[in-house]
Amino acid sequence: PTILAIESSCDDTSAAVIRGGKVLSNIVTTQAVHEQYGGVVPELASRAHQQNIIPVVHQALRVANVNKSELNAVAFTRGPGLLGALLVGCSFAKSFALGLGIPLIEVNHMQAHILAHFIDEPKPQLPFLCLTVSGGHTQIVLVKDYLDMQIIGQTTDDAVGEAFDKTAKMLGLPYPGGPMLDKKAAMGNPDAFEFPVGNMPEYNFSFSGIKTSVLYFLRDRVKENPNFVEENINDICASVQKTLIKTLMKKLKLAAKDLGIKEIAIAGGVSANSGLRHTMQEYAQKYNWNVYIPAFQYCTDNAGMIAMAAHFQYLKGDFTDQYVSPEPRLKF
Ligand code: ATP
Ligand code: FE
Repeated sequence: PTILAIESSCDDTSAAVIRGGKVLSNIVTTQAVHEQYGGVVPELASRAHQQNIIPVVHQALRVANVNKSELNAVAFTRGPGLLGALLVGCSFAKSFALGLGIPLIEVNHMQAHILAHFIDEPKPQLPFLCLTVSGGHTQIVLVKDYLDMQIIGQTTDDAVGEAFDKTAKMLGLPYPGGPMLDKKAAMGNPDAFEFPVGNMPEYNFSFSGIKTSVLYFLRDRVKENPNFVEENINDICASVQKTLIKTLMKKLKLAAKDLGIKEIAIAGGVSANSGLRHTMQEYAQKYNWNVYIPAFQYCTDNAGMIAMAAHFQYLKGDFTDQYVSPEPRLKF
C-alpha cells in the first residue's frame, strides 16, 4: 500500500509517504516560534501546524514522487500529545481521506516511536525490549509483535527528556536543551560531580529528584562562586548526563535479565543522545545484547515512524472512521 502519514503531536509538523513498507519521503518542519519562550507554547504550536501542514504534505508527496490519486490510505497521530496540535493533523487527515475516498488510520505516537526500528536495517527480532525515552515518556516496553506491546516499566514523575531539558534550562542553555546538554557533556568529565540516582521499584523510574538536586547544587555552588556555572558547564552537563543514563540502564539491564531477552532497542527523542548511544554499544559488548539504535532522523518526532506504524495497521485492516477525535493521553 501507498500511505500518506501526518505527525503533529507537539511542535514538529511532519508528513511522510510510505510504499510497500519503504519510506519514500519524510519531511519535518520544526517550529522556531517556541525558542523565545524556552518551551513549547501549545496555542502557538497549533497555529504553526495550521500554517505548515499543507506545504509539508505537498513536499512529502513531491519528494516521494507520488500523486495523491495513488494513495491507499491517510494516517495521522491520534495521541498522545497536545490536544490543539493533534487536532490540526487529525482534521487535515480526515478531510484528505474523505476527499479522496480512502481509509483513515489512527496511529499511537509512542508505538510509532518504537516501530521506527522497522524503517531501515538492521531490524530487531520479535520479541524485543525497547527503552522509549522522549520529551513526555520514559518506558520499558516488551514488544511481542508489531502492534502488540506491553509497558513493563515507566516513569512515576518526569520523563527523562524533561530532566535533560530542565537541567539545561537551569544552566542557562537555550531551548531545546537536551541536544545542547549532550554537546557540552561530550567535552566534560562525567565524574566531576555526584548526583543521586533515583531508585524506584521494579522497572520504574523517577526523574524529579535529580532535577531538584541539580537546583540545590547550583544554588550552593553559585553562592560560593558566582562564575561556577560558566567555569564548569561541561563537567556539570557530563555528570548529569551520566547520572540520567545510569538510571535508565540499570532498569533496562534488570528487565533484560529477568525476561531473558537480548534483542534491545532504544527509541524516542533522547535516543539521539550520544552518551546513551555509546552506553548501549558498551552493554552490547558486555552482556551480549543485539542493540538497535534508530537513525537520528527517526529518533525525534517525524512522520516516517507514523507511516511505518500505519503500514502494519493497513496490513491488519486496522482502520478508523470520520468520528475519530484526538486523544491527548492515548494509551496502548
Ligand atoms: P513524546 O514522544 O513523549 O510525546 P516528544 O514527542 O515531545 O514527547 P520527542 O520529540 O520524541 O519528544 O523527543 C524530544 C526530547 O528529546 C526532548 O526532551 C529533547 O531534549 C530530547 N533530546 C533530543 N535530542 C537529544 C540529545 N541529543 N540528548 C538528550 N536529549 C535529547
Ligand atoms: Fe515523540
